[in-house]
Amino acid sequence: MPTRTFLFAAATLLWAVPACCDEAAAAKRFAAAKGSEPELIAFLKGMPKGADLHNHVWGAVYGETILDIAVQRSFYFDPQTFALSTAPASGLLPASDLAKDRALSNKFLEAVSMRGGHPGESGHDHFFATFYKFIPAMDALGPDARLSEAIGRAKDQNVQYMELMEEVESGTVTEGLLKAPPAIDDMDQALAAVRKKFPALLADAAKYLDERDREVTRRLGLKAPITSVESPITIRYIFALPRTVPDPVFFALMAAGMELAAKERRVAAVNVLAPEDDPASRKSFDSQMRIIDFLWNKLGQPNMTLHAGELTLEISPLEPMRSRIRKTIELGHARRIGHGVSIAWEDDLPGLLREMKAKRVAVEINLSSNEGILKVSGDRHPFNLYRRAAVPLTLNTDDEGVNRSNLTMEYVKAARSFDLSYQDLKDLARNSLEYSFLPGASLYVDGDYRRLRPELAGVRHPGWGADAAARKLMSDSEKLRVQARLEQAFAEFEK
Ligand SMILES: [Zn+2]
Repeated sequence: MPTRTFLFAAATLLWAVPACCDEAAAAKRFAAAKGSEPELIAFLKGMPKGADLHNHVWGAVYGETILDIAVQRSFYFDPQTFALSTAPASGLLPASDLAKDRALSNKFLEAVSMRGGHPGESGHDHFFATFYKFIPAMDALGPDARLSEAIGRAKDQNVQYMELMEEVESGTVTEGLLKAPPAIDDMDQALAAVRKKFPALLADAAKYLDERDREVTRRLGLKAPITSVESPITIRYIFALPRTVPDPVFFALMAAGMELAAKERRVAAVNVLAPEDDPASRKSFDSQMRIIDFLWNKLGQPNMTLHAGELTLEISPLEPMRSRIRKTIELGHARRIGHGVSIAWEDDLPGLLREMKAKRVAVEINLSSNEGILKVSGDRHPFNLYRRAAVPLTLNTDDEGVNRSNLTMEYVKAARSFDLSYQDLKDLARNSLEYSFLPGASLYVDGDYRRLRPELAGVRHPGWGADAAARKLMSDSEKLRVQARLEQAFAEFEK
């Protein structure tokens, strides 16, 4: 072998860590299971999945939990809409009827989820209406029960990390901002007014999240707090605000969210909620992007992940879809995009895809949700369009309770809809940590999953033990720490 070739081969061996252990055997088992949905479920439910980065906790709660708490708290319901109420009123029936009558309880479960096919109503309208029906149940459950259901379910499916859209403070400060938002003709003055609330906001969030750390950790039977990287499943929160509010309210809540994302360790990012095709969202989109652009530059450039392009021609004119995702990245500073379904309608699509690849803007894919709400699945979905352009993708649940799904099922759907290999699914799981908002350096060199940091070169072997250099790297980077946990979980799974 000529010396140069030998040196090159040696260097490659040093850097490119070969696949370890029984990856090939696991890939074989996967390929054999792929033709059958139950066999694939059986294989994938235990496969390590990295993270769920797009999870609305209220939508993660299953209808059965909602029904049980409604009965337990002696709520009432409207027999036409199945909306819950805490107080009796004319025409309402006691929730105890739901427990006695099987047909009625089935109808209730269909009304608060996508189960049953929602005849006479579009998936889009039925989906967004469910949330208004179960607000009293969410309040009655409280954050600890809601979080425990979502986190416990993910943990059982070998998920290492979650970024959850849930409340991150008691509401005292944000409700004040909601009721008395500042005038925003002069945005500098408006921000100065909101800044006065920041110390109280940060103190309130710290206390609120300390309580979740204690109580949810206890309920799940874990030792380390759920927001710690010592926990087998690590949680971060995303502050979410609606896009359907007037601009001054949007400004005040966005400023609050960005301050929390910049200063509170457990709040990883900010997102915006509510249907993009809602008349209020449609009218306010451009002014909201200007507000985000202004605040983001003033408030420490916090992490942003924004729903964008959850649209089709059925619910949106063409015009907004020509620039929705581009503006969300360029003005909204989104480092991740939620859904991105309408991408094909964007102006200069090749340029936008190149920009997403270069800036490493990932897309949070939500297959069950897109199928139920937008009727977009299989080759109607832009999954392969993004993939061919090397835009990073992650698989997520969105609203697993309402959609009657879970992260395993999202992997099953992706594998069967887009003919993915076991290695493809592993890379999707790795993407979910690589593009997470966990701080710190990555385990992978230049985002290349074949190249591990040399200090952790052995991490893909079962029974690997970290030496001092590896321990130092892991204590310096929360992201690397959780990525190492995922690689170890793969090694265990494939053993
Ligand atoms: Zn969403």
